Amino acid sequence: MTRVRTYLDFNATAPLRPQARAAMIAALDEAGNPSSVHSEGRRARALVEGARASVASLVNAKPQEVVFTSGATEANVWALSALSGHVLSSPVEHPSVLAPLQRAAEQGSCRVSMLPVDGFGRVLAHALFNAEAAGASLLSLQLANNETGVLQPLDEIAALKRETESLAGLHLHCDGVQALGRVALDFTRLPIATLALSSHKIGGPKGVGALVIRDGHRLAPLLTGGGQERRHRAGTENVAAIAGFGAAAREALAELGSMPAIAARRDRFEARIAELAPETVVIGRGAPRLANTSSIALPGRSAETLVIKLDLMGFAVSAGAACSSGKVGHSHVLSAMGLPADVVSGAVRISIGAQTTDDELDRFAAAWAEIAGAKLLAA
Ligand code: PMP
Repeated sequence: MTRVRTYLDFNATAPLRPQARAAMIAALDEAGNPSSVHSEGRRARALVEGARASVASLVNAKPQEVVFTSGATEANVWALSALSGHVLSSPVEHPSVLAPLQRAAEQGSCRVSMLPVDGFGRVLAHALFNAEAAGASLLSLQLANNETGVLQPLDEIAALKRETESLAGLHLHCDGVQALGRVALDFTRLPIATLALSSHKIGGPKGVGALVIRDGHRLAPLLTGGGQERRHRAGTENVAAIAGFGAAAREALAELGSMPAIAARRDRFEARIAELAPETVVIGRGAPRLANTSSIALPGRSAETLVIKLDLMGFAVSAGAACSSGKVGHSHVLSAMGLPADVVSGAVRISIGAQTTDDELDRFAAAWAEIAGAKLLAA
């Protein structure tokens, strides 16, 4: 008997969209190198440029501002590759931001300070007024958190930056991975210098992403060699993956309008969980957050045990930020939010997509309640 599997881990990676799959398969049959001048090359080039236009539309950037990379890790590392002076960030960033910052600080190329965050993990924007922040060269800040879905107050920061002289020279790098396709992003309007994006969180293939670099912003290439990507990133383009990213971006743009319905579905789910397992702590509720993410904890339980148990019951979910190593570490994000240790260690992330149904979430809620009720299963 095949068991029904329910995939509720869209923030780790979203299932490939059929349109992305079709675009990739078609692109695999294009023989040309996009840098070649012959017809085959020009056809491959057209696929890359079509995808660039689609990704640009999703974030309202100019196509020439989009540079394809191997994913958001490369985009973040690249954006943070030439740091100097004083750099600001937040303690709830993804490791692909925290690690390059730590390395740069260790190498002495810059000084790094973390802005304080509130109980939702949102940076306290007014900390930018502190003498400490004055003269900082760069602020690296995520738009939405991968574990909780909580959104950073970017509009507030943008307004402060516009109005505060001491922040005039501050460049913003944003990790837009989790916000992409879930929040209407307007690169033209926001004072962001660089924006990191990933394809696989919006139903495109894994291993491709982009760094959106504002026209006129100078950033030396991370990968040098050939003149691809307008000399921003050397190496023959991954044409099929880029075509898949473009197709996923077109679908994600069309799906943006369904976010209120997805939020309603998530809220209904959280209400159901509260009813069936009232000891559950819902993390991030009350803050502006992504429509699709629910971070819930059974205090005192082991998230790792919960994830394994849920997996055996047919549900794919994550514990904390377990998408990289497979192992469940203690979440630096939830810890930075000041949550009690027994909540941090018992937190599980449910992240849904447009195709997730109420029925799937009801079945998950029942399984969760069953586990919550079975005290002996506690780690
Ligand atoms: N930033 C955030 C917020 C993420 O969630 C992820 C993926 N876990 C990344 C960056 C890295 O993206 P990629 O997998 O494309 O390297």
